Amino acid sequence: MMMQALLKKVQSKGIKILNNITLEHFEESNNSVKIKTNLLEFSTRKLFIATNGFAAQLINEDVKPARAQVLITKPIKRLHIKGTFHLDKGYYYFRNIDNRILFGGGRNLDFKGEETTEFNETEHIQNALETLLKTTILPETPFEIEHRWCGIMGVGLSGQKKVIVKPLGNHVYCGVRLGGMGIAIGSLIGKELVQLLD
Ligand SMILES: Cc1cc2nc3c(=O)[nH]c(=O)nc-3n(C[C@H](O)[C@H](O)[C@H](O)COP(=O)(O)OP(=O)(O)OC[C@H]3O[C@@H](n4cnc5c(N)ncnc54)[C@H](O)[C@@H]3O)c2cc1C
Repeated sequence: MMMQALLKKVQSKGIKILNNITLEHFEESNNSVKIKTNLLEFSTRKLFIATNGFAAQLINEDVKPARAQVLITKPIKRLHIKGTFHLDKGYYYFRNIDNRILFGGGRNLDFKGEETTEFNETEHIQNALETLLKTTILPETPFEIEHRWCGIMGVGLSGQKKVIVKPLGNHVYCGVRLGGMGIAIGSLIGKELVQLLD
């Protein structure tokens, strides 16, 4: 919903969105920033880097990728779990959504392996999620998994959790390291980035 609202707003202002294009390199000069992508090159007056967990590919800041794996069950009849729950110091998260269990986590089982920008699920973590679901969350309820996926977060190298919002030059700015909070605070970070222009 947030992304739909953002796209609607951007399009209503006539701003062009280029999808499926990768910024490979940028270089700042006196009045502009030269942009090189995998498809084309152009110059812009300002550049905001908001690539979060992927940021280390472009800038030298204290941010690294942290993948998080998730699964969701098919709808379950008479599912009594209501609300949002965390377990094991918050490394696991589950909730009822439309009578399904959405369950994610287990990054602590393989911190090094999950320090990646690759969109893949692993057997080790997916099995751990399924086992916890069977033994702890739904021990007496049969269920089937409908879908499994993952996402990439951006976290600090030393466990630092503060977002980095700052200028990197006269015309380049970054808003990265949103941790597991980017849905909640992403639009505010956008506002803070724009305020750096004032
Ligand atoms: C499983 C999971 C559950 C989460 N749950 C919550 C939650 O409950 N609440 C919450 O607030 N947050 C949650 N988060 C965190 C939240 O999703 C992120 O903080 C948020 O998506 C970050 O948004 P972003 O726009 O900064 O980065 P992203 O959404 O990662 O967007 C960055 C974009 O940049 C693109 N990109 C990367 N490199 C380049 C390049 N060189 N050129 C062009 N494009 C590039 C990427 O393809 C990507 O589309 C969760 C994350 C995960 C993975």
